[in-house]
Amino acid sequence: MPETPLISLDHEELVIRKGRRTGVYTIVAVHSTTLGPALGGCRMWRYESSADGARDALRLSRAMTFKAAACGLALGGGKGVICLEPGDAPTGGRRRELLLDFADTVDVLHGSYIIAEDVGTSAADMAVIREVTKWVSGLPRELGGSGDPSPFTALGVVMAMRACCAHRFGSPELTGRTISVVGAGRVGSELAKLLAGAGAELTLSDIDGSRRGLADELGARWTDPSSGMLAKVDVLAPCALGGVIDQVNVDRLRCRVVCGSANNQLAHEGLAEDLAARGVLYAPDFIANAGGLINVSLELGEYDPGDARRRVEGIEETMAELLRRADAEGITPLAAAYELARQRLDAARRVARSR
Ligand code: NAD
Repeated sequence: MPETPLISLDHEELVIRKGRRTGVYTIVAVHSTTLGPALGGCRMWRYESSADGARDALRLSRAMTFKAAACGLALGGGKGVICLEPGDAPTGGRRRELLLDFADTVDVLHGSYIIAEDVGTSAADMAVIREVTKWVSGLPRELGGSGDPSPFTALGVVMAMRACCAHRFGSPELTGRTISVVGAGRVGSELAKLLAGAGAELTLSDIDGSRRGLADELGARWTDPSSGMLAKVDVLAPCALGGVIDQVNVDRLRCRVVCGSANNQLAHEGLAEDLAARGVLYAPDFIANAGGLINVSLELGEYDPGDARRRVEGIEETMAELLRRADAEGITPLAAAYELARQRLDAARRVARSR
């Protein structure tokens, strides 16, 4: 996980507590509740220090504010972190105690933060946390929750891709489009299935060679991740880790559109300008991958998978609007996404002040 040396502190709350069961630090950062409760994942991760964990929570919670606002959700931005000790990922009783310690931290915020799953945590973990606090989403289906968000995230990426293809090639249809999906995990494999179903010509890659079976099953070309990143295709879909587009490979990409699920695809945000200058349309990752958040947000009311699907399909229009704005204002789609989010936040603050 990249270290962020400087982080602007414009957050509402930062809670750091030493767990009474484990002595491990659990952290929640609430960046903003201007638009609603701060819903954000809980990351269980090994950091160099607990201060690094707090820094990550501050950075990620801020990003969640912009993601929710740009997607028009009545949600704020928050993030949770459980700072793991060195060694293997905890299991059994130790894991349970860590989750209960984190639940105590969530509970002291009385609902300004609502937890969901993230890197290192699962729907089953959410069920454990629910034993202590009610401020939990992302519960398993059998407990009335929305379960694994990945299929909805994948659907959202498809919808974003349609908007990008309409903008770049004049048609949203994915039939016959050449698409390279890099990373065939939970989201990437669902995405590959949807794209194959839509008639796209697929290239699939992953560092895990066992994913090759999926490529064979879907009639996709299998390659290594570096070749997948540099493939000459209509659309590149990064679906593994962040920072995959950097100063070194930005000039070597041969795609016309970048649209995938990975968080923080650009090693730094200035690369959005470089991509635009090279004629590559970069779909802001936090809009393209918002399907999971949109799905889980519906748990706060009466969850209905049909409704979730319809709302996730709305990402096509959200992305189309951003691309129109970007063109009209001569800015990148990433800048347009931030601008839209800021406008929504400012409008909500004005309404709150006038009350
Ligand atoms: P995952 O862990 O299930 O899958 C990641 C896959 O990437 C694995 O198969 C792994 O082997 C592969 N991989 C790792 N390093 C790689 C590399 N260098 N090159 C190619 N492949 C590599 O994760 P996921 O849930 O599918 O999430 C994928 C990305 O999407 C992450 O960045 C995640 O933060 C983001 N995301 C996921 C969701 C969701 O609903 N799961 C929602 C929003 C964003």
